[in-house]
Amino acid sequence: MNYPRPIEDLISSFMRLPGIGRKTAERLALYAYSNMSEDEAKQFGQNFINLKKNLHTCPICGNLTEKSTCDICSDSTRNHSQIMVVETVKDLFIMENLGQFKGVYHVLNGAIDFTNGIGVEDIRIAPLLERVKEGNISEVILACNATLQGETTSRYIKTLLEDSDCLVTRLAHGLPIGGDLSYADEMTVLKALEGRIKY
Ligand SMILES: [Zn+2]
Repeated sequence: MNYPRPIEDLISSFMRLPGIGRKTAERLALYAYSNMSEDEAKQFGQNFINLKKNLHTCPICGNLTEKSTCDICSDSTRNHSQIMVVETVKDLFIMENLGQFKGVYHVLNGAIDFTNGIGVEDIRIAPLLERVKEGNISEVILACNATLQGETTSRYIKTLLEDSDCLVTRLAHGLPIGGDLSYADEMTVLKALEGRIKY
């Protein structure tokens, strides 16, 4: 037996989210009906709409922003000649929350993963090369995850930048092998940043 339509619709919506199966979705939908006011429900829906309507990726670095370029790219006090390459916006936030890095970023939106059909064209490598080609870049710091995919991506970018004038560095190991940046504690990430080496 199915729940009434509005509950079933909400269950389907919740199940679109990662890690949420039918049982959890049912619990959340019934909770929302019993415990949320109409205003809260409206706000909840509106938040989803705003996410898609007001947010876009920064055309320079790929960070998320509500403005034409993100706060980091438009900050003139930062070192725009130093670009840190990360796989995801989440990684950018982890690095940014450490408060140590004063350069700018480049978000790849993933990593090369041939077994899952993610190739060079599927991530933002070409825009990175454009930025370097435009000049005034002194250092590219590769901060991809210490996974096979991350390593493959770093190696590929390193090869592409071989003929450029900029220094290519990578985060020092100290990051857990096979681990994501997001699973490492802040101190580990910080040490890895400080101990970065020429790649
Ligand atoms: Zn930006």
